Amino acid sequence: MSKLVIVGTVAFDAIETPFGKTDKILGGAATFIGLAASQFNVDGAIISIVGGDFPKEYIQLLEDKGMNVEGLEIVEDGKTFFWSGKYHNDMNTRDTLITELNVLEHFNPVIPEAYKNTEVLMLGNLHPLVQQAVIDQIPTRPKLVVLDTMNFWMDNALDDLLKVIAKVDVVTINDEEARQLTGEYSLVMAANKIREMGPEYVVIKKGENGALLFHKEEVFFAPALPLKEVFDPTGAGDSFAGGFTGYLAKTRDYSYKNIKNAVIYGSVLASFCVEKFGTERLLNVSRKEIQQRLLQFKSLTQFDIKIN
Ligand code: AMP
Repeated sequence: MSKLVIVGTVAFDAIETPFGKTDKILGGAATFIGLAASQFNVDGAIISIVGGDFPKEYIQLLEDKGMNVEGLEIVEDGKTFFWSGKYHNDMNTRDTLITELNVLEHFNPVIPEAYKNTEVLMLGNLHPLVQQAVIDQIPTRPKLVVLDTMNFWMDNALDDLLKVIAKVDVVTINDEEARQLTGEYSLVMAANKIREMGPEYVVIKKGENGALLFHKEEVFFAPALPLKEVFDPTGAGDSFAGGFTGYLAKTRDYSYKNIKNAVIYGSVLASFCVEKFGTERLLNVSRKEIQQRLLQFKSLTQFDIKIN
């Protein structure tokens, strides 16, 4: 079984969508990535930090899904990272209301010895210096290093972010953030500029409009499944990252052809995430449902036209 190390926030989220509002619930980039990746039976480890206020049951949930949590530091007298966001009516855009870094402000990640030979490294949304510190602890470069980030870090730590982007194979980023990072409106131009920063692959996530994968001169598109109900898009990007890296860690094939399949798996996991608030749907999605949704994705995009 190949290893997957996941770095990112483990958090409390408070979310408001046109369909309702939550109190503090389980969230965080690494949480969504880990839950999505756990569908692939990989040997995954979560590297993060929480405060003493973080319920032990939440940690147990991650362990029950097969995630190693030795690298999840608990600061007993600290407070867990807290994020609050409010979605607009179109559910594709949101405002961040609160970001409280709390214990994240002084986080020195430690990769458990047994995971230092990881094959895939998923640098989820977190301070770029923490992402860098994780790369630095791995003696032999993993086969694939994927980085996700967001506007918060572009606003607050751009230089550090650019340095770490230069070291990774794949960047996953949403459309507005790709525009902010590069100053380019065209997503093709934005992806080209990000590739010039170092990564061979760029995935631009466009919410309910799907995701684009850029590699050399090639572009691949995965739609988002049109769903009857979208309840809460929080964590969709991270679920995408979990499906993407989980599938690649399982199949151990890092060719462009297989990376396209990983984009489809990422989109499938994201499509489940948005059906309920927070992590609720990811916690109970079954393998059979995933397979059925893959078939739906296939029939959504397959057509047979004769081109003369
Ligand atoms: P997504 O909807 O995929 O962009 O991810 C939402 C998750 O990211 C939430 O569960 C938040 O806890 C987490 N999050 C929000 N802001 C940040 C941030 N600045 N750094 C790391 N994680 C964050």
